[in-house]
Amino acid sequence: MPNDAFGHPQPNSRTEGAPEAAVATRGFATRAIRTGQDPDRTTGATIVPVYQTATFTQDAVGVHKGFDYSRSGNPTRSALEAQLADLESAKFAVAYGSGMAAANGASFSFLRAGDHIVATKDLYGGTHRLFANVFPRYGITTTFVEMCDLEETRAAIRDNTKLIWVETPTNPLLKIIDIAAIAALKRPGQIVAVDNTFATPYWQNPLALGADVVMHSTTKYLGGHSDVIGGVVMTNDADLHQQFAYQQNAVGAVPGPWDAYLVIRGSKTLALRMREHERNAHAVAAFLESRDDVSVVYYPGLASHQHHELAKKQMRGFGGIVSFRHRAGADAALAFAKSTELFNLATSLGGVESLVCSPWTMTHGSVPPEQKIALGIGQDLVRLSVGIEDAPDLIADLTQALDRARVSTKVFASV
Ligand SMILES: *Cc1c(COP(=O)(O)O)cnc(C)c1O
Repeated sequence: MPNDAFGHPQPNSRTEGAPEAAVATRGFATRAIRTGQDPDRTTGATIVPVYQTATFTQDAVGVHKGFDYSRSGNPTRSALEAQLADLESAKFAVAYGSGMAAANGASFSFLRAGDHIVATKDLYGGTHRLFANVFPRYGITTTFVEMCDLEETRAAIRDNTKLIWVETPTNPLLKIIDIAAIAALKRPGQIVAVDNTFATPYWQNPLALGADVVMHSTTKYLGGHSDVIGGVVMTNDADLHQQFAYQQNAVGAVPGPWDAYLVIRGSKTLALRMREHERNAHAVAAFLESRDDVSVVYYPGLASHQHHELAKKQMRGFGGIVSFRHRAGADAALAFAKSTELFNLATSLGGVESLVCSPWTMTHGSVPPEQKIALGIGQDLVRLSVGIEDAPDLIADLTQALDRARVSTKVFASV
């Protein structure tokens, strides 16, 4: 494998044994810009058109060109599914109208009443809400475990466990879960799914590590510009894919063609953007570590990170999310979050613009307070989605916001 400027091996080959042998040598950026994006057959349009149509006119009853109704299939959506499958080196992809619709599709498609899920404790708030509050109504229960602890995870797996749901790096504490080790715990008939939203296929490919299913919120890094909501589910398993595609059509949680187009357009520059996100996140994490008003910095790229070695083994890079704790506690963290000028105070992540959020009230508002405390998500915690603005500007903004938080909370009054 060739290396990039950071010495990370670069993803450049499809799943072994995949039929498209000619594509096997193409690099990640080439696949992002080319796969699923041949010139339009009827017009020669170089860029995949937005097929803004609900239905498709048939030549004779039942005789059509592969599309009959846009819930069941739309050419812009098909292009997106081909592009994203190739980026994960997956055989199949199904696109959804949101990341949560994708999470629901990746699980509910094959679960039945009486089935059990084992899921990461430190989970995206919306996925926690789906598993903890919605699925129990249908007789599907979930045990949330600390998946960094393989024994705890093994002990939670039961005979009726059907799905093991992994999210790594975790949100918002950026712990790293060993995907290959979790996949090795599964018993026949169990499915390991990984939410790969934070790492993106540029830095991590869960299917190659033994996962059966990969899911993304394309709202985040794949779309990359905070202008679209979307999701995708990928697998190499034809049976599972059939179940996802069947459910997608039956339930109808599809992305519209404009949304599919925006995710295609964003994903073309994923490689470029991820390199910049990571470069800036490293700079921000190192800066925060140097501040005496910051007590802990969570970034898997830091040598001080508890799972740095595992991150280096399973990922090619560490992404653009950095969390930290304000030493002076909740008030100072909140004062900081409202004092940034470049970092917008907003939920979401993965866009070109930098964002700051307080996980306690924003991303994890739906998780009960006592559970948040048990998870280590305090009100002193701040999460940054580091964008691709110029790093010195980002650091200047963080500096002034930390300084203002110091003054307004008077905790470091002597400084
Ligand atoms: C945002 C997000 C989701 C949900 O995606 P939506 O597009 O907001 O529905 C799921 N998992 C992770 C890790 C996310 O960041």
